[in-house]
Amino acid sequence: MQTEVLDAYDPEAIAKAAAILKDGGIVAFPTETVYGLGALATNPDAVKKIFEAKDRPGDNPLIVHVAALDMIPPLVEGTPPLDMNLLADEYWPGPLSMIMPRSRRVPDEVTAGLDTVAIRMPSNIAALSLIKEAGPIAAPSANRSGRPSPTTAKHVLDDMDGRIPLILDGGPCRVGLESTVVDLTSTPARILRPGGVSPEAIMRTIGEAEVDGSVLRPLGEDEVARSPGMKYRHYAPEGQVTIVKGARKRVAARICAMYDEAVKAGLKGAILAASGNRALYGDRTVRLLGNGAAEQSHELFAALREMDDIGAQAIFSEALEAKDIGLAFMNRLGRAASFRTVDANAKEGKA
Ligand code: AMP
Ligand code: MG
Repeated sequence: MQTEVLDAYDPEAIAKAAAILKDGGIVAFPTETVYGLGALATNPDAVKKIFEAKDRPGDNPLIVHVAALDMIPPLVEGTPPLDMNLLADEYWPGPLSMIMPRSRRVPDEVTAGLDTVAIRMPSNIAALSLIKEAGPIAAPSANRSGRPSPTTAKHVLDDMDGRIPLILDGGPCRVGLESTVVDLTSTPARILRPGGVSPEAIMRTIGEAEVDGSVLRPLGEDEVARSPGMKYRHYAPEGQVTIVKGARKRVAARICAMYDEAVKAGLKGAILAASGNRALYGDRTVRLLGNGAAEQSHELFAALREMDDIGAQAIFSEALEAKDIGLAFMNRLGRAASFRTVDANAKEGKA
């Protein structure tokens, strides 16, 4: 199959993508979080093609993307909860997915057999036009399963060339990390995955919410993942990632020491750091992420992909404070590192 790349902001490209979707096909499209790989949410055979193209495990559900609130009632069982309206008012269109009881019109293929469905209204204009023209679109991130999510059309092409007919190129994604996932079927609401809308912001809007324990640590052996995607190794480059936390200069010193040790052992080392810290790493290989949590989150997945491109085997990353978008950054980086973390403030050898 030939994979075509078209300008997402060209109405003819949107019409072509919508025609492919209505015909039971799949297309990749930009959103403000990451690129999605979409099929019509009401077509189970089309949705199956997403799982095939991504090699995605069948028990990992998809998010249904809508372009207007009136697309929601047919997708959910009963009346949508009040909290949904409050959160939609505040954060939609935007990087927030809400889990609600699903109606029977949403096929098992979308929800991986769960009796709930995750719904989001993206803010990217091209994504909204496509959904308006084609109908609700079920879409996970457009990467091959296990790889970092794509934040440019080139990332999608790298993973999907020859596997899908069309990629809509909308430029780099504004947020660069996947949406916040909040489960409105539990009381209080539970944040299963942090993203562009912070737990604090959600609590301000609906009064109470909890952050699921699995956000900043690995799942225990007998623990059931409430958000099935969270149990898979994810976002991970080929090399081993180590996170280093603590005071800025101590972090840099510890990273330099570990990097030098790895290089002495014959490994290709690389460092992920805030741009302002460049001088602390001398002539070592550093991928700068910019400054501040939003910029660094925006760059994280692209940087993890580049680690594979340069063949990095020992990767050391500075930690961010786990609040606001920094919580999402630390969740993704943590999972890329299997939560392997060194505390630079602690005595040598202690985690
Ligand atoms: P992706 O967009 O590739 O990150 O995939 C969507 C993610 O949303 C999945 O990996 C799940 O973790 C989460 N998700 C989607 N639907 C549900 C649901 N009904 N219940 C819990 N988590 C969900
Ligand atoms: Mg994904």
